[in-house]
Amino acid sequence: MSYPYEAPQSQSLFERASAVTPGGVNSPVRAFRAVGGTPRFMVSGTGPYLTDADGREYVDLVCSWGPMILGHAHPAVLEAVREAVSKGTSFGTPGQGEVELAEEIVARVAPVEQVRLVSSGTEATMSAIRLARGFTGRAKVVKFAGCYHGHVDALLAAAGSGVATFALPDTPGVTGAQAGDTIVVPYNDLAAVAQAFARHPGEIACVITEAAPGNMGVVPPGPGFNAGLAKLCQENGALFISDEVMTGFRVSKAGWYGLEAAHEGWAPDLLTFGKVMGGGFPAAAFGGRADVMAHLAPAGPVYQAGTLSGNPVATAAGLAQLRACTDEVYATLGQVADTVCGLVTEALTKEGVAHRLQKAGTMFSVFFTDEPVTDYASAKRQEAFRFTEFFHSLLADGVYLPPSAFESWFVSASHDERAIERIAAALPAAARAAALAKPTEELR
Ligand SMILES: *Cc1c(COP(=O)(O)O)cnc(C)c1O
Repeated sequence: MSYPYEAPQSQSLFERASAVTPGGVNSPVRAFRAVGGTPRFMVSGTGPYLTDADGREYVDLVCSWGPMILGHAHPAVLEAVREAVSKGTSFGTPGQGEVELAEEIVARVAPVEQVRLVSSGTEATMSAIRLARGFTGRAKVVKFAGCYHGHVDALLAAAGSGVATFALPDTPGVTGAQAGDTIVVPYNDLAAVAQAFARHPGEIACVITEAAPGNMGVVPPGPGFNAGLAKLCQENGALFISDEVMTGFRVSKAGWYGLEAAHEGWAPDLLTFGKVMGGGFPAAAFGGRADVMAHLAPAGPVYQAGTLSGNPVATAAGLAQLRACTDEVYATLGQVADTVCGLVTEALTKEGVAHRLQKAGTMFSVFFTDEPVTDYASAKRQEAFRFTEFFHSLLADGVYLPPSAFESWFVSASHDERAIERIAAALPAAARAAALAKPTEELR
């Protein structure tokens, strides 16, 4: 397709960036490679809007990939940051802010008795797995194809299709030894997990899953799936790690746990958090059973540390954001998500475009297929080439979607009527573009 290059400033910045940074970006999906065209360099954000280097405004449906649940530059968060920053930016000692943030998390999510703060979701899952291995004295980890847990070596193994294959590393730089203890199984497939336990008795340290996957597009767990995982782990002496980096504090006050597990009467042993809990700063966490967390240094022998862990500015931002996430905020998010989903379905249906809108709480995404998407294999069967045209039409009309057909969309409590009207106005042309889309070679 041809792209209307009406972003000369972004293009110029991208050229400079590409000279000094691999691919011009500091995180791959930002480069627009899946959809083509010039990534927009953003200079400011307010509420539901982002403004790029060329002065164009977009309704933001990425929200920094989840963290900006209240919208950009929320007054309560900015005020907390200003106050924290005025007192200094890092001490390398314990501080009150990290105690308060830990207390807030423990108060919200019942199975989290103790929590350790880190600086990224990647660190959280990496540390949780080390802890699970240290606690159980076992080596193997079960993960699901299509689930993303950050760029942890052992978790960048998602190749292996079919059942319970030993995964080969997905990326050069991860050795067979690092990925060799990872068992990858299809999502929503309890039988495959049971089979992995049967094949490797006494060897599996943990099962890690996204609480409700959003990193292959949104693929909610089937009824009883997470409960079944918890049960299988318990029966086999393994820990159940629920990765709530994306869902945590976004889909409810207590994350996916609060939507599902709390009512079904089971609990993960460990949970990981990030994104929303940092208020737009690098703050993340892992936590869970006190007897497991007690194995972490300096209380126990499993080492884990961080120079900037519990940073006073990051914890102040996170705490302010969590405290501002009231029941009303979650109700608004639900309404906004429902409204946007309704508009997307209406526009695509009108143009006869086969699609599935899949939701997990207030996270959602569209798959260009008429078959239900329950795992990575079915996610990949969608007609992603339609997304490319859909994306660029919306971008041209001032709506900023994740630049990939395999990512969740995110809304904020600041998405008001005006923002939604702008999305509604842009959708008919985008749906038409999706309808007219022709399969192309993979854009690389
Ligand atoms: C974003 C994400 C991560 C990684 O977090 P980073 O802060 O990017 O390292 C881990 N797990 C899930 C489910 C995520 O969505």
